[in-house]
Amino acid sequence: MNYDVIIIGAGPGGIFSAYELVKLNRNLKVAVFEAGHALEKRRCPIDGEKIKTCIGCKTCSIMSGFGGAGAFSDGKYNITNDFGGTLFEYIGKKKALELMRYVDEINMSYGGEGTKLYSTAGTKFKKLCIQNDLHLLDASVRHLGTDINYIVLENLYNYLKDKVEFFFDTPVETVLASENGYTIKTAEGEYSCEKCIISVGRSGSKWMEKVCGEMGIQTRSNRVDIGVRVELPAEVFSHLTDELYESKIVYRTEKYGDLVRTFCMNPKGAVVNENTNGIITVNGHSYEDPAKQTENTNFALLVAKHFSEPFKDSNGYGESIARLSNMLGGGVIVQRFGDLIRGRRSTEDRIEGAFITPTLNATPGDLSLVLPKRILDGIVEMIYALDKVAPGTANDDTLLYGVEVKFYNMEVEVGENLMSKKYDGLYIIGDGSGITHSLSHASASGVLVAREIAG
Ligand SMILES: Cc1cc2nc3c(=O)[nH]c(=O)nc-3n(C[C@H](O)[C@H](O)[C@H](O)COP(=O)(O)OP(=O)(O)OC[C@H]3O[C@@H](n4cnc5c(N)ncnc54)[C@H](O)[C@@H]3O)c2cc1C
Repeated sequence: MNYDVIIIGAGPGGIFSAYELVKLNRNLKVAVFEAGHALEKRRCPIDGEKIKTCIGCKTCSIMSGFGGAGAFSDGKYNITNDFGGTLFEYIGKKKALELMRYVDEINMSYGGEGTKLYSTAGTKFKKLCIQNDLHLLDASVRHLGTDINYIVLENLYNYLKDKVEFFFDTPVETVLASENGYTIKTAEGEYSCEKCIISVGRSGSKWMEKVCGEMGIQTRSNRVDIGVRVELPAEVFSHLTDELYESKIVYRTEKYGDLVRTFCMNPKGAVVNENTNGIITVNGHSYEDPAKQTENTNFALLVAKHFSEPFKDSNGYGESIARLSNMLGGGVIVQRFGDLIRGRRSTEDRIEGAFITPTLNATPGDLSLVLPKRILDGIVEMIYALDKVAPGTANDDTLLYGVEVKFYNMEVEVGENLMSKKYDGLYIIGDGSGITHSLSHASASGVLVAREIAG
């Protein structure tokens, strides 16, 4: 055996697996294979001037490399079982929270100390929301910010680099079960291990599907969340964001009874492109450093779409909608809320004439040509509902970027402790397993399996 443990993917799931493994047993021989670059080499070429939109790099530096999709994320670690994944279904709510708190402690001791932990518990906003048919979910959220998140990752890498062997720019092609463990194949060669942890995140979703097919591991998938990223002056949400930082608010539409929710709120942040398997969608982040902050707040409004039999390809459905926006806009489309309501496209002139400066250079267009009516109706209803708790949300100049899609990786069949039911010693964790959808849950899943292996 080359290694005791091979970890595929150096996102939060992979990093926290490696951290906990070497912390518990310094004698373990651990290797991490990562398709993307080392942290210091990760750079998205979009500079807003020479390169304005996604040019489809071989590996997307926003999604891949040491730190995973989390490296340039806003670093919001939500400590909750209410959203961010369903880890608790495997290990119970108490243990899931304990693991998330443990991850938070590590983050604090590797550069995050001094960052703020916000909480929705006992705030006046819960009442305000309920009075307006909106539901504020419970959570504690540690906001590292994109800048501090980077420092924490840098420190974690410095701690790990002499204890773990890292292979960057080395995508794993296949995983094969061997007599005493697993063999992984890369373009450079084959490596064997006794235990294997797969933590390939959202960018590895297609690959994960292929591996599950090859190894006969059961999967299921029937959900995708589709919507827009809203950008408005930071003042509109400041009463909420100053106290809660992020508010996860859920609304049930009157028309269809669909659930619409706010997601990934970034006070004084920036809207960014996201490239998943060549499809350009939108996301957002913000910095802890006031010097890097903008005048705008952004958040996603997403409608959850669950499909029933016989349709199985929920991600394919989301991709097709995102492709439509890419086809019409060459990437992400931006539209003023006022233009959407009046049934007209936004133009360069209308965007320039708005009292808000977009933080992402997107193509002005018409989102009603992209989003299915049911989804668009839900988003419009939610904007009017939010306007009651944050007046100004339904302003004509509020910007809507589309589309934002939350792809849910298909859920891979694993037992408790996230080990494949079919293969002993093969663990599938993080967003790639379909079980987690967040930094805190993905990291916690890494700690969980490391303890299982090292213990
Ligand atoms: C812009 C942005 C902002 C976000 N903000 C937040 C936030 O504030 N809070 C929050 O909770 N979540 C946020 N998220 C989501 C969060 O980043 C993910 O939930 C989290 O990173 C999942 O961790 P993971 O380790 O499971 O997967 P990932 O972070 O996706 O890491 C997986 C890694 O595996 C690598 N990989 C894939 N396939 C292979 C292969 N075949 N071989 C080798 N390596 C492979 C990838 O390159 C990647 O680096 C954000 C995401 C984005 C894109």
